[in-house]
Formats: sequence, structure tokens, C-alpha cells
Amino acid sequence: MTYLAVPIAAKEYDEATRQINAAIAKQAELIELRTDYILSLNVELVQKLINYARNASEKPLPLIITCRSKSQGGAIDYPDKTRIEILVAAIKAGVDFVDFEYESFRDMNNQEKIRLVLSQYSKTKLILSAHNFKERFDDLAGLYRHIMATYPAAIPKIVYTANHINDCFDALDLLWRTSGQRIVFAMGQAGFITRILAKKFGSFVTFASVDNTNATAPGQITVEQFRDLYRYDSIDKDTQLFGVIGDPVAHSMSPAVFNACFDKAGSNCLYLPILLQGKTDKFNDFMKSVIPRRWLGFKGFSVTIPHKENAINFVTHRQGYVEPLAEIIGSANTLVLGPDDNVSTYNTDYVGVLESIAAAGFKDLQGKKAAVIGAGGVARAVVAGLVSAAAKVKLYNRTVRKAERLAAEFKCDFAPLSDLDTVDAELLVNCTSIGMSPDIDKTPIPGEYLKKTMTVFDTVYNPPQTKLLRDAKTAKAKTISGVDMFISQAAEQYKLFTGKDADKKLMKKVVSEHLQC
Ligand code: NAP
Repeated sequence: MTYLAVPIAAKEYDEATRQINAAIAKQAELIELRTDYILSLNVELVQKLINYARNASEKPLPLIITCRSKSQGGAIDYPDKTRIEILVAAIKAGVDFVDFEYESFRDMNNQEKIRLVLSQYSKTKLILSAHNFKERFDDLAGLYRHIMATYPAAIPKIVYTANHINDCFDALDLLWRTSGQRIVFAMGQAGFITRILAKKFGSFVTFASVDNTNATAPGQITVEQFRDLYRYDSIDKDTQLFGVIGDPVAHSMSPAVFNACFDKAGSNCLYLPILLQGKTDKFNDFMKSVIPRRWLGFKGFSVTIPHKENAINFVTHRQGYVEPLAEIIGSANTLVLGPDDNVSTYNTDYVGVLESIAAAGFKDLQGKKAAVIGAGGVARAVVAGLVSAAAKVKLYNRTVRKAERLAAEFKCDFAPLSDLDTVDAELLVNCTSIGMSPDIDKTPIPGEYLKKTMTVFDTVYNPPQTKLLRDAKTAKAKTISGVDMFISQAAEQYKLFTGKDADKKLMKKVVSEHLQC
């Protein structure tokens, strides 16, 4: 059992009762009362709050009482004497759990007081906690052993800040190697996945806030996000994992899109945002940590900026399967982890491009004139896709040298942006970021150069209706939105991950809600 717990961090009684009510309304499974936040803290006030929490819902939620020391992240620096008085009163009141810092428990004076009252009031379980807000613990497993040796009946709680996704493996390894009641996870944006995976690996508690303003620790998300976005209620030890690797990833729509599809299909799968900072060495370290830990259950990754080249190089180096067009494009956006540590890699961007074009009525691109604006990563995938379909491509780019190099690779024509006034194409594709939010009134090509005979495709998807597409509509040209491309490439990834067709309508609905289009 993993409790989805909400910490109550209020300065005074009324505020605490409001937070307790909000936690109950959000269907928290446990309440942690952080008494170190309370101004003018005293035993009577805490007893009153315990009573309030017990009577606030029909079925009282389990309660943790803690009065965190300042050195372990407490809000107000109460002396040990006060903190112990609070915990002793809570134990006497028969609360389910009290959380005391292992560091303070090692003081024999403190320990004797806590041990004595626990021996007299056996209903309460002791959580012995250790926090490192700066970094990983040097020896996490050793710390766990020490806590257990000091007080074997304790629930050890070990929490540290992950400064990189690769710091998460300590916490996950400890959960995997131990059993019984223990609380282990990493804080910070990089440690985020451990809060969710706490459920898969049986951490006794994971913490959530009632809303975005009430988080008590870095990386904490809301109860709603746990449940609605990350499928908290369906996670179990068999849940298969997927994720998007990138930096940044917080803005990515992929977790919402994939998890909605998994939910609808009733698949025991979960898709996570994986913030992977740093260069090739960090990417390789991550992959080399994930692959041998098959018990983690990772089956595939979407890959985004800045790791698309790292992905293809990693698989090439391991002599795994590299999809031929991904090799030509020189970057990959999909990794599939198979049995026997096999890893294969694909680029679904070009599939997304070709599918979107076909859906707009271009059944055959052979010999068709296509103008591509831009010469970056997306342009490579677009040009590769169009050339593979035998279209006649001309590239336009601000930095002409880059257009020239790309054109030489794919044996097509190139020109500076200023030549767009004489553009002659049936298909025009914008692969620059011009027009992307917040610069929504910019466009890569003046509206008067667009013609009725053109199909205009903007790979920018935020906003879904860019100025370029609005101008194209005014010119009575056909349009293709970047949203269509995003959905087609995601659907192709879904198929590579699961072997099944994605529900594209659902994907579009989720994307639309995200972009509010
Ligand atoms: P990239 O590699 O950084 O390339 C950016 C391109 O835009 C370059 O050609 C650059 O020209 C050009 N550019 C940027 N600002 C410009 C400006 N002010 N004036 C003229 N040219 C400018 O980026 P990318 O990865 O190819 O992504 C490009 C866009 O594709 C993104 O912004 C995103 O909206 C879109 N995208 C869509 C999807 C989808 O699924 N629909 C997926 C990924 C990306 P220089 O070479 O001169 O710098």
C-alpha cells in the first residue's frame, strides 16, 4: 500500500482546518500535519487539530504528526524540547504515525523520551526521517541500515534532492532491494519521477499538494495531477513505463497525450516526463542505468531537444537497430527497449509530416514542387520525408550556408529567404520557429506571396492557427497545422511502443485542451 499523502502546512488553527478540508475533498489518503509551520505552537492546539482531522470525514484518514527541525527542512526553529512535547502528546492521543528526525533521535536524551511513550502507547508507529535538501546521500543503503538497526520497528523515511535524473537510481534501487514499510523518494524537478514511481515500488507514502500554491517541497505535484495526469490509481508493480526525455520537458504535451491513450485502452502503462540535463555523457549514463535495470519496467522513450542526436548515436554505438530514414536524417525521436537489452531507434517526425500531407489530399508527392523554409532539426526530417517521396524540394533559410549544406546532402535546391517573393511551389512548409507563441503575429513569408494553388503546412503547433495559416486561408490556400504533425508522429510512437493503433481523435482532444484551441 502506498498512501497518497497531503501535508498540512498552516500557520494557525483556522488555516489548518481549511487545508484539512481541502485535502479530504481532493481524496487524499493520508494527512501529514506539519506542526513546525504553526505560529505559537502548543500541545493543546495540536490536540485540537488532531481531533478536528479525526472528525472531518466520515472515515478518518490516517494521520502523521511531525514537527520538523529547522536543519531537516522545518519552517520554524522550535527547540527539541517543544518538538518532543508535541510528538509525545500526539502519541498519547493515539495518532497513527509520528515522524521524528533520525538525526534528533540519535540524541539518547530525545530517544529515551520517545521510546518510553511509545512503549506505553503502542497504537502509534514511529517514522524516522532523514532529509538531504542539497544532494544525494553518500550511502543511502547504509543510512537505511542504520535507521533500521537503531529502531527496527520504525518506518524509515529517506528523502534527498536529485540534482539530475541520474541521481534518482539510488532511491529506486533502495526501494527495489528492500521491502516492508519504508518511504523513499527524491525531491526537485529532476527527482520528480521517484514521487510517482513510489507507488510502483511500494514506498509507504508519497506526498502531494492540494494545489500549486501549497507544495511543501520542491518537485511536489498536486493530488489531481497524480490521479488525472499520471494514472496514480492504476499504477502497480507490473506497470510498464514510457517517457519523454528532453530538457526542458515540463511544457511537453506528450505525458497528457500518451497517458490519456493508455487510460482509454485500459493498458497498465504510464508515461513520464524525464528531465535529462547535460550533454551526451549524461544521456549515455541515463540509458546505461535504465537498460540493465529491467525491473524498472521502462519499455520506450520519446526523445526531444537536445537529445535526438544522442539517441541515434547511442543505439548506433550499441549496434542496435537504427531505422534507415532516421540514419539519413541523423536524429531519432523514439527509443524502444526490447528483450535482452535490445534498443532500437526511429524517427517518427518524417512519418508525421508525410501522413499530415497525405491527409490533406496530397496522395502522391512524386515530382511535386515543395518549398521548405528553415534548415534546422525539423527541416531535416521534413526534407528527408519529402525527398523519400520523390518531391522536388527547394530550401529557404536565413543562414544560407546551412540551407546549402542541407540541400547538398539531400540533392535539392536552396535559396535565401529574400527569394520567397518568387516562390513557386504546390506545397510550402514552415520549419522555422517564426510565429510560435508568444510571437503569434510573426510569419516567415508575407501573406501576399501565398497562392490559392498552394498547400501551406506550418510545423509550429503553438498556437495551432499561426499567422501563416491565417494568411494562407485568406489566400484560399489549403492548410495543414503543426498539431496534425504532432499527433501523427505521436501516434506512430504509440504504435512502436505498444504494437497497437493510437486513438488519434483522443490525442487531438487532449492537445486541443492543452493548447486551448
Ligand atoms: P532548430 O533546429 O533550432 O531550427 C530553427 C530554424 O528556424 C532554423 O532554420 C533557423 O534559421 C530558423 N529561424 C529561427 N528564428 C528565425 C528568425 N527569426 N528568422 C528566420 N529564421 C529563423 O529548430 P527545430 O527543431 O527545427 O524546430 C523548428 C520548429 O518546429 C519549432 O519551433 C516548433 O514550433 C516546430 N516543431 C513542430 C513539431 C511538430 O510535431 N509539429 C515538432 C518539433 C518542432 P537559422 O538556420 O538561420 O538559424
